[in-house]
Amino acid sequence: MNLLQECTGAKRIGIGGHVRPDGDCVGACLALEQYLKKELPAVQVKVFLERPADIFSKIKGFGEIDSSFPEEEAFDVFFVLDCSWDRLGGAEKYFHSAAKTINIDHHVSNTGSGDICEIRPKAGSTCEVLYDLMERDKLDRDLAMALYIGIIHDTGVFQYSNTTPATMEKAAHLISFGFDFPGLIEETFYQKTYLQTQIMGRALMESVRFMDGRCIVSVVDRKTMDFYDVTHKDLDGIVNQLRNIKGVDCAIFMYETGVLEYKVSLRSTDKVDVARVASYFGGGGHIRAAGCTMKGTFHDCVNNLSLHIERQLLEEV
Ligand code: AMP
Ligand code: MN
Ligand code: MN
Repeated sequence: MNLLQECTGAKRIGIGGHVRPDGDCVGACLALEQYLKKELPAVQVKVFLERPADIFSKIKGFGEIDSSFPEEEAFDVFFVLDCSWDRLGGAEKYFHSAAKTINIDHHVSNTGSGDICEIRPKAGSTCEVLYDLMERDKLDRDLAMALYIGIIHDTGVFQYSNTTPATMEKAAHLISFGFDFPGLIEETFYQKTYLQTQIMGRALMESVRFMDGRCIVSVVDRKTMDFYDVTHKDLDGIVNQLRNIKGVDCAIFMYETGVLEYKVSLRSTDKVDVARVASYFGGGGHIRAAGCTMKGTFHDCVNNLSLHIERQLLEEV
């Protein structure tokens, strides 16, 4: 696919990503916006996303993200990044009314949702896919920084198995633009506020192991989130910490999103395909990192999830 050719003749372009946007989603949307604005200066380009965490505010264009999802005239082209159309949240209406839709993603669970689809499950991040689609000589410092943020967030700073030699080559080229990458990694990935650390400590302390310690689950309820005055954005990293525990093959982290409703995050080692587990509950993701939303009590959710996880763990033996 040629990004600029696909936009030929367009006057208004919209860009959207998934609900509860992460670093890859925010980086990809803002990188694409910068690229299109630079190369097609006469075209109006707008990004629609739920309000991302403030740690991403250094990315160019962050301040102009529209999180109010107003009524808009149909877009000539609407890009769906880092998800399929059903996870666009408030931006879904722009997808349905657009004259042309383009889906760029790397989720194995995404079967493609758009007139033009570029879904690469082997890519570590949507930002990597975008890097491949952009002309190298058209990158600049701000754009490089946006793509780099997406790459470090989805690869856990080059730690997860979705990191490839190509990931490192792209990252090497991106840091050659000279932005402060150690600061960016520290401020957007590792640094936590005191309250974020406290609630993480509590979630780790209250976690419960099952299947001989091969699975672990922890939950944070609404009341606890209110007590620490945190939102879901403050809970990032807890599930990874659970997965780091020796002997754990599958970590489950849940937080309450409503009455008898939980957002579930799953992380695994090479023993469990969590994208498959999540897909049974209408979610998806990648084989080592996936998510879904579930209804029912905490115990119902864990029972239902563990059935599918145990099946895979037992198959392995
Ligand atoms: P999370 O646990 O929310 O950080 O998500 C882990 C991975 O799974 C990310 O790549 C998400 O984009 C993806 N994911 C999370 N929830 C869903 C869902 N409901 N449907 C499809 N993919 C999801
Ligand atoms: Mn994402
Ligand atoms: Mn991603």
